[in-house]
Amino acid sequence: MSKPKVAFFDFAGCEGDQLQIANLEERLLDIASHLEIVNFREVKTEQADNYDIAFIEGSITRPEDEKRLKKIRKQAKMLIAMGACATIGGINCLKNFLGKQEYTSLVYGPYARHYSTYATRPVRAVVPVDGEIHGCPIDKEEFVLVVKSLLLGKIYIPPDYPVCVECKKAGNICQLEQGRLCLGMITRAGCKATCISAGSVCWGCRGPVPGANLDAARQVIDEHGFSWLEAEDRFRLYLGYFLRLQGWVYEQETT
Ligand code: SF4
Ligand code: SF4
Repeated sequence: MSKPKVAFFDFAGCEGDQLQIANLEERLLDIASHLEIVNFREVKTEQADNYDIAFIEGSITRPEDEKRLKKIRKQAKMLIAMGACATIGGINCLKNFLGKQEYTSLVYGPYARHYSTYATRPVRAVVPVDGEIHGCPIDKEEFVLVVKSLLLGKIYIPPDYPVCVECKKAGNICQLEQGRLCLGMITRAGCKATCISAGSVCWGCRGPVPGANLDAARQVIDEHGFSWLEAEDRFRLYLGYFLRLQGWVYEQETT
């Protein structure tokens, strides 16, 4: 039986997710014995366009990205978005809250007019996706689970409950009770509440949990004395794209 051909592609992002996969080291060789990797510029020079499964990293920020992504979608039998930029737009969506003139001149200075760019979107806002691997960066163990599922002809379903559940399981004292704004209650689990267990808060990198109760979250945020301005700033880091769709964070859309 022929092995499925796999390709990795990057759009606007830091390529940290592909680095996580490269960091699997010897296990990547095990995985590669069940697949044929035909395109993965972080680990091999040769490239081919006859792939069955495409992993997409990065968000869509330019008209030429959209064209390239649609071409990949046409070729791939399965398309998996991986990492916060690809699944939820990621921190690239910060620019969606500024005027185009402002962010292009901040980044490109006097050369701004030479660069095509528009409001950032996640992959699923441009083409249909068959699966998503969340996180910034992704958890390499979750990537292995996704690949194993694909080899069995199945789609891996990520957890559909909030980070608070994993946080409680880990025995942490809630950061909200300690006066720190944490977004665990509206963020999808799957990271084992890693940031909170390490003494930080949840920033929302795995995206909104399906069916997040935004009204209840707002009530909790108010009850713990955080200003709405502070909360909006925190949402924009990772959750801005989706929460704006819900009418939760405002400001001008740039095109
Ligand atoms: S709000 Fe944050 S610290 Fe509190 S239980 Fe949820 S994930 Fe843990
Ligand atoms: S705790 Fe929150 S910010 Fe940290 S890895 Fe998990 S989802 Fe991402």
